[in-house]
Amino acid sequence: MEKKKDILLKVIKASYRYSDAEEGEYALKDVSFDFELGKIYAIKGRSGSGKTTLLSLISGLERATDGEIIFDGKNLKDMNLDKYRSQEIGIVFQSYNLLPYMTASENIILSMDINGDKSKNKEEKAIKLMEKVGLKESYASRKVLRLSGGEQQRVAIARSLSYNPKMIIADEPTGNLDKQTEKEIIEIFKKLAHEENKCVIIVTHSDNVSKLVDKVYDLDKVK
Ligand code: ADP
Ligand code: MG
Repeated sequence: MEKKKDILLKVIKASYRYSDAEEGEYALKDVSFDFELGKIYAIKGRSGSGKTTLLSLISGLERATDGEIIFDGKNLKDMNLDKYRSQEIGIVFQSYNLLPYMTASENIILSMDINGDKSKNKEEKAIKLMEKVGLKESYASRKVLRLSGGEQQRVAIARSLSYNPKMIIADEPTGNLDKQTEKEIIEIFKKLAHEENKCVIIVTHSDNVSKLVDKVYDLDKVK
């Protein structure tokens, strides 16, 4: 018998229509995808196919016009979305979104503070998170503007892990990086899925990324 799947997130016939869209014009229509713990996913599709819109629904920034999104057995419709966003999911952006004049560890600690982390050894915790993404301790005190793009993205991934979320969502996280660095960043996400049992969801244009993940969902095939 097949082992019961550990589904963390279920998107069930989700549709989304922006308020200023024409009657009947949907950015996303009847999308159904399952996401399991311990796996890494790519969501691909041409520009305008609804990738960012789908991430907005999954990350609780927007509510689905129709359909359901179920996280860990609970419907997002019934959840406090601010709490969901600050405790359950980590988000990584294409442009890193770090504060350039702060150091790497200060950026991570700031996220811990915003999310109400009361622990006393935050610096130590930040350094451990940085080591997890392949940045040695000496990087902690370096200002972000003195880091390469790939290093900045590693800091951003470390930051997304600061409250130990089950799910990590990334919108084109390697869009500004060269091919080799892209591969290294995807390997970090893979390790988080396979060794730390996270559910990792990456929106990407890159076929190289699609080749490295466990499963690809193609929004062009839904429309
Ligand atoms: P992708 O990320 O795949 O390029 P998006 O999710 O950004 O696609 O967009 C999907 C569709 O929704 C597009 O047709 C786009 O023009 C439309 N759209 C995106 N954002 C908005 C918005 N804020 N208001 C109205 N329409 C939008
Ligand atoms: Mg997009």
